[in-house]
Amino acid sequence: MPDSGPETSVENPELRRALLAADPATLLLALVQLSGEAHWLEAARPFIRGPMSYQEFMPEPLRAQIRDRLYDVLTKTAPGATAAPGRIDDALLREMMSVAAGEPVPDQYIAMMREDLTDDTLASRSLKWRRSPDPAALGNPEVVIIGAGMSGLYAGIQLREAGIPFVILEKNDAVGGTWYENIYPGCGVDTPNHFYSYAFEPNHDWSHFFAKRDELWNYFERVADKYDLRRHIRLGTEVIEARYHEGEAGWRITAQGADGIRHALSARVLVSAVGVLNRPKLPDIAGLPSFAGPAFHTAQWDRNFDWRGKRVAMIGTGASGHQVGPTIAPDVERLTIFQRSPHWVVPNPNYHEGVSAGKKWALANIPFYLRWYRFQLFWGFADGLHTALQVDPQWPHPQRSLNPVNEKHRRFMERHMRSELGERPDLLQKVIPDYPPYGKRILIDNHWFRMLKRPNVDLVTDPIEAIEPEGVRTRDGRLWPADALVFATGFKVSKMLHPIAITGREGRELHEVWGADDAKAYLGLTVPGFPNFFMLTGPNTGLAHGGNQIFMTECGVRHMMLGLRELLEGGHRSIECRPEIYDNYNRDVDALHARMVWTHKGMTNWYRNRHGRVFAITPWRLVEYWKMTSTFNREEYDIR
Ligand code: NAP
Repeated sequence: MPDSGPETSVENPELRRALLAADPATLLLALVQLSGEAHWLEAARPFIRGPMSYQEFMPEPLRAQIRDRLYDVLTKTAPGATAAPGRIDDALLREMMSVAAGEPVPDQYIAMMREDLTDDTLASRSLKWRRSPDPAALGNPEVVIIGAGMSGLYAGIQLREAGIPFVILEKNDAVGGTWYENIYPGCGVDTPNHFYSYAFEPNHDWSHFFAKRDELWNYFERVADKYDLRRHIRLGTEVIEARYHEGEAGWRITAQGADGIRHALSARVLVSAVGVLNRPKLPDIAGLPSFAGPAFHTAQWDRNFDWRGKRVAMIGTGASGHQVGPTIAPDVERLTIFQRSPHWVVPNPNYHEGVSAGKKWALANIPFYLRWYRFQLFWGFADGLHTALQVDPQWPHPQRSLNPVNEKHRRFMERHMRSELGERPDLLQKVIPDYPPYGKRILIDNHWFRMLKRPNVDLVTDPIEAIEPEGVRTRDGRLWPADALVFATGFKVSKMLHPIAITGREGRELHEVWGADDAKAYLGLTVPGFPNFFMLTGPNTGLAHGGNQIFMTECGVRHMMLGLRELLEGGHRSIECRPEIYDNYNRDVDALHARMVWTHKGMTNWYRNRHGRVFAITPWRLVEYWKMTSTFNREEYDIR
């Protein structure tokens, strides 16, 4: 459909159906965008109430008016209607965002939002050369990317757009990273898919609001095909080490093929896109090797394992366990779940829902509908939650919550737990956490509590003493018999980039610089002493409260591309972050984290190291990271 709609008013039943199926608040924003009619905002404002409930409360007469007017705008040349986004000035855009979010949205979001409202969201994020770089400089494989998952593919797309030669080395025999590797039952995303997708590559056909693994993997496969990346990708090739060579101003890389044979490569620029959550952590429990049946980690799920009619013991109740348990519970003879600490669990009405045909049509065809929908998800699942993460030092109940918003979220989740388990106080007292919300990753209720009530499910909170051939023994002496053991015990995260050895300019290996578990970088991307080296999903770029990891990668790649522009346009040899910039940045990160939930006492999480420093996740609002990464200040870098 063209942006301004056809000029005749032929009845369009498909559009009528889509308008009925679509979210009213999002339609309203598309309408204001298309028509410039700001008065709709005032009509809707009282009914849109913030991150958790921005769609539900609008009365039907108002919904009908919005639908009718939008129908007119899209099917006729309605008076005053225009599809030119240029008509939306900053003040109106801010108001639209505020109504979309259900609370005031500051001016700092305007520039970010404008980038999303352009016709070509790939071009709006792609590098613009200021002058053509020397063709000789672009003649060699300039860039080697390690990993063909979500980040590596995106880096490849942007390098391709800029005309910079590159190679992607991937240890697996397929692209897709985490979405290729994880095949455990129930595996899927818990960020809504219309947000968890590349900004420039929307998928209007997600079958569900929260898609499962196969659909996600297929999405990344399609992206690799569509952007013709496969001829740049070497599958089954694992990078073992990389060493910076000052004389060559580049990297010498050793990679190993599936046949065990090692190859040497060189690159001007090295990009790590290896991901974070991919080295399984097995629990250190006495007797583990003695177990008689199959035993495996969620990330190494045995495809041939048939759990039907078996007694399965699952250790761990994080995001992975939360997806496995309810998926297999109906089919197993017995599921025994060992919980060391409970997680906060939030209900989401869309979590198990399919996307209706009308909504898919609206996403694909109503101009700006998807963009505003994404903004609402962005707010509800990311920046709109930021206040809930801040520690108020005056707050009188720091053991249960952090501030009034955090307390409100706690009550909301507690209410949900009570409504699910009210008749089972024995379970309720096991599942309500004794630490503030967001201290560990919040889980979306995957019918977890209903599963706990099943007669064939046990939730065991007595500590595990040992694993024996027939099952798991707890400290109270009881043996919980099992035919199979599932470790939903998370990942080794603290040694980022391990086991790849990356040796910088001064001959120091990256992990030596970082120490055992204290990864740091400027903007999560660069480290002094490691010229022409960028990390994607690097230190302090993870998201723990929600958010969209793809957004972080898009930001990181943009900054990297600006760095490459500086390097290649100027004909320079190397670019490297200055030590004082790195130190100052990490001081800021630590200072912010010191006032946030993840350094709060009362719970463990995988975001911080032995010394309590949060190294894995970002303290920034997404908009702040977007702003910091969308500019490039030469003064911050040593360019030789
Ligand atoms: P996780 O969050 O680290 O959870 C590991 C679980 O195993 C925790 O319950 C932990 O208990 C328990 N555990 C570990 N060692 C144990 C031991 N020795 N004895 C008893 N229990 C033990 O790991 P995950 O569930 O794989 O999730 C990791 C991250 O991956 C998530 O935070 C999320 O970022 C991502 N993820 C996302 C999705 C999604 O989008 N849906 C799905 C899966 C994973 P404690 O809490 O007491 O340490």
